[in-house]
Amino acid sequence: MLNRACSSKDIVLEVTFIEVELQGAGYKGAALESLLAAIVESSDDAIISKDLRGIVTSWNSGAEHIFGYTADEMIGQPIAKLAPLDMQDEMPAILVRIRRGERVQHYETVRMHKEGRRLNISLTVSPIRDSFGTIIGASKIARDITDRKLAERTVTMQADRLMRANADLKQFAYVTSHDLQEPLRTVLTCTEMFLNKYGGTLTGDARRWLELSVEAARRMTEMIKDLLTYAQSLGEDLPMQAIHSSEVVEWAVNNLHIAIQSSGAAIIFDKSRLPVVYGNKIALAQLFQNLLSNALKYHGPQPPRVEITAEPAEGGWVFAVRDNGIGIAPVYHERIFVLFQRLFAREYPGTGIGLTLCRKIVQAHGGEIWVESEVGKGATFKFTLKAKEGS
Ligand code: ADP
Repeated sequence: MLNRACSSKDIVLEVTFIEVELQGAGYKGAALESLLAAIVESSDDAIISKDLRGIVTSWNSGAEHIFGYTADEMIGQPIAKLAPLDMQDEMPAILVRIRRGERVQHYETVRMHKEGRRLNISLTVSPIRDSFGTIIGASKIARDITDRKLAERTVTMQADRLMRANADLKQFAYVTSHDLQEPLRTVLTCTEMFLNKYGGTLTGDARRWLELSVEAARRMTEMIKDLLTYAQSLGEDLPMQAIHSSEVVEWAVNNLHIAIQSSGAAIIFDKSRLPVVYGNKIALAQLFQNLLSNALKYHGPQPPRVEITAEPAEGGWVFAVRDNGIGIAPVYHERIFVLFQRLFAREYPGTGIGLTLCRKIVQAHGGEIWVESEVGKGATFKFTLKAKEGS
């Protein structure tokens, strides 16, 4: 049965495209009209018509649901009833455009629910013409976008909060590490001078304690320097372009020339099989350099042998840097990527920032990095890179 509040004739222009399709499917006359009315009634969107004075002439169940008013309450009433007090001018302005024969599409605005709540609405308003083509009113489709707007606002607020937190963190890390440098330099210089001048006169524990102090101050100086580097890299937008990864690998290998020679290491890669990737040249060179220098540092009884390969993966490549070193127990596979986390604090030099930077670089490229390893069986660091922008 047709809802008396909602004549399909009133909104026939708005749904012309449905009508055409239905006519194509063999619907005509009364059958077509009742089918259109059923479509209007079953719509979740509010489908409303009004005359040129702005008086509501039809009101479907979608409108009842969105605005909380029944058809009985709205038909014959001014549509302006739905406008918030601070937006009363908007509806007459829309009607002026309708009288000119214009259509207002996907216009985002605010309307009031019967209970006084503000609703975010997307509106499409079109002129209704009689059989002579004269504009006699307007049809209006309103969609409740309150939830979408709320979600958009939440995402924007979270993004703002994250940006502020990142900036604060960067500032904090920078200021603390910068300010800590000065007193530490004094501690280091004084303990070194003391050790040089009076070291010979000290015996037993006294000399050892002083040496331990110097060593700790040196280590802390290194850590603070690394922390500064890390703080500076926070929140940086890297300029990206298409890069031959073999060039980046060669660059990293050249930088490590001395360490490679002195350890007798073999670095193996097939230039022709390393792909073009989308990334930042300097950052990727640092990534390979950190991974290679770790592979040289954490070597086993054999001279280091490091192999670099790349396999195609969805949207890009998975790179592998495989070594024959001491390996890493699975329980530490996540921990080693955390800032200043080291498995051997004394046996090997370092501060525990290298893999944190590697993860940051890969993530800034939209990829992931992880390790596959067991103690005594070498380690394979794997990471993904995109083949091209947006892939
Ligand atoms: P660092 O080398 O300065 O300690 P990293 O962040 O580069 O800092 O590495 C963190 C820890 O991960 C290292 O201390 C080491 O225990 C472990 N690690 C890194 N790379 C390897 C590797 N190739 N083989 C074995 N252990 C490794």
